[in-house]
Amino acid sequence: MKRLLKLVLVEDSHADAELVLAELSHGGFETTLERVDTEAELRAALEDPTWELVLCDHGLPSFSSMEALRVSQEAPNDVPFVILSGTIGEEAAVEALRAGARDVVLKTNLARLPPVVERVLADAENRRHQARLALERDALEARTIKLNEELRASELQYRLLFESNPQPMVVYDRNTLEIVTVNEQFVSEYGYSRPELLTMTIAQLGRKEDAAALVSSLAANPAGIKPSAMGADGSWRHVYKDGTVIEVEIASANLMMGDRHCRIALCQNVTERNRVVAQLAIARDEAVEASNLKSAFLANVSHEVRTPMNGVIGMAELLLDTGLTSEQHAYASQVMRSGEQMVAILNDILDLSKIQGGHLELDIDDFDLRATISETCASVAAQAKAKDLALSVDIEDAVPRVCRGDGRRLGQVLLNLLSNAVKFTPEGVIAVSVSATATSAKHSTIRIEVADSGIGIAAGVLERMFEPFTQADVSMTRHYGGSGLGLAIAREIVDLMGGEIGAESEPGAGSRFWFAVELATPDTDELAFPHPAITTVDVAWSRPPLVLVAEDSPVNQIVAKRALERCGCQPHVVADGRQAVAAFSAGTYDAVLLDCQMPELDGYAATAEIRAIEADSRRTPIIAMTAHTLDGDHERCIAAGMDDHIGKPMRHSDLVAKLIRWIPEDLDQQPETGRPVDASAAGSVHGG
Ligand code: ADP
Repeated sequence: MKRLLKLVLVEDSHADAELVLAELSHGGFETTLERVDTEAELRAALEDPTWELVLCDHGLPSFSSMEALRVSQEAPNDVPFVILSGTIGEEAAVEALRAGARDVVLKTNLARLPPVVERVLADAENRRHQARLALERDALEARTIKLNEELRASELQYRLLFESNPQPMVVYDRNTLEIVTVNEQFVSEYGYSRPELLTMTIAQLGRKEDAAALVSSLAANPAGIKPSAMGADGSWRHVYKDGTVIEVEIASANLMMGDRHCRIALCQNVTERNRVVAQLAIARDEAVEASNLKSAFLANVSHEVRTPMNGVIGMAELLLDTGLTSEQHAYASQVMRSGEQMVAILNDILDLSKIQGGHLELDIDDFDLRATISETCASVAAQAKAKDLALSVDIEDAVPRVCRGDGRRLGQVLLNLLSNAVKFTPEGVIAVSVSATATSAKHSTIRIEVADSGIGIAAGVLERMFEPFTQADVSMTRHYGGSGLGLAIAREIVDLMGGEIGAESEPGAGSRFWFAVELATPDTDELAFPHPAITTVDVAWSRPPLVLVAEDSPVNQIVAKRALERCGCQPHVVADGRQAVAAFSAGTYDAVLLDCQMPELDGYAATAEIRAIEADSRRTPIIAMTAHTLDGDHERCIAAGMDDHIGKPMRHSDLVAKLIRWIPEDLDQQPETGRPVDASAAGSVHGG
């Protein structure tokens, strides 16, 4: 294959030009040619940097080959220049070569031309290569100089960082543990002079008994300890020159100092921090202990107050059922209302204590939202009616029936807003509106609003109403009663549900309290245990159920007996757990009601014995009566083998609901008891 050659030929003779081309072709070149014969033409041609060679006739009429050589040397790139001559003398040839011509070829010996061209081109390529190499070398040298400068600067910076670091730093030999260098802070903090330190090992900084641990820590952390893992290696103890022992946390990294394998370590004195942390832990334990004591105290007070309150409310309820004069009826009603208020305050205090102790947990389950709202509104309807207030409830169509959440707590918040509305509205209306906005396919935000036309609250004090024990006007408290806890509890519950609560109000123009919570909508619209709405009941058991009751308080015995009789049951009352077990083994009962705390044998132990007596035979429902209302009581009753529990003071309607749930309608054909009576059995209950 022919070698391509881009050639500028300075030649006035066409015939000579042809000869040159023929010779080059013969010598293996395929030439692209530009022929020029004046200086101007040569200059113009050489502006193109792709020419590889200038061949120049020595004897030109218009300018000499030496001038042509100068022109070609002025060209921007190095184009080799070869003289062709028929007549050049030796002197002129030497002069031309000195001036930079690459060779001189006699026209009489044109056969030399191809090898000359080949060599000259190779030389030119070689020169270009050398030039490139020189350029690269220069660039490399410049870069090396720059890097060296940067390295020196960064070394300086690191040394500065090391020296001026406010934490003590030390570099030591990883093999011999000899200290190689320390920073200023190390010297001033540890009390040794720099020369002293440089004769010591890192182990001599610690206590003798820690030396072995130091060696194993070095082996266990071959790459050092990152600052983020400080303390992961535990706190070390270092000893100052004056004997003071300090606790240190160490971060370290490997480092070469010349050919020594070293480690640089930052030693942070954590003595004070550890002391504070230890103190905090003690303080926290004391606080937890105090909080537990407070909770236990509250639980006890609650229990102690609830038991007599059961008597007060129960007896008042029974008394109201007897033939009283209207004056006596009014007094007894007041006794009952006051008792109920006292229980409500007790519940509020317990709730707040639970919330503040972080013990309040939501009980998440599917619940009937619409029923919860309606029942809560119904529970204040009588109070509203007594004050001649109109109570309207508007539930948007978009509000789902079944939701997932803590329905009981949601009802509690609504009841609080409603009771306040009734309490603080002398005349006019109370309007409840419920709306829902879908937040996702399965979730909606339920907003419940209670608007009233009552006394209102001044703007400045409105927000404070959500703080515990805060009321707008102390003189009002005397007038309206209340503890100032309701809204605080409502806000805590709504917060726990991840929702929002707020209010707008104007003195004399009424208030609008609202809360919004996000609730999940279950796939099904059905509830596992539909909750029958019971207000009054007409129980239709096939015969009066026989109910064994164990209760130690004589007053509460009467309350329980009468309450059961009012429900159509036949009660058998005994005074403690021991008697209950004896009665159970002697007779047959449709249900057992056990007080949890009794002398001799408490409700839990009595349940265990009753379950043992039953062995595999029919399981009798056992319902606990408990004045404890703390979380976990229900679970404790179930764990003891009971089926359900009813809180004290025992409301008649609650008792009825429990009896209906556990005692089947057709008493003598019961296949098995001990299971809640399902929805179809609730047909004997007539809502009123
Ligand atoms: P309580 O009602 O037991 O005093 P709350 O925390 O429920 O406690 O309410 C705090 C105070 O907020 C009330 O004492 C009353 O001053 C004010 N308040 C609450 N609801 C209303 C309302 N609907 N209208 C006017 N004032 C209200």
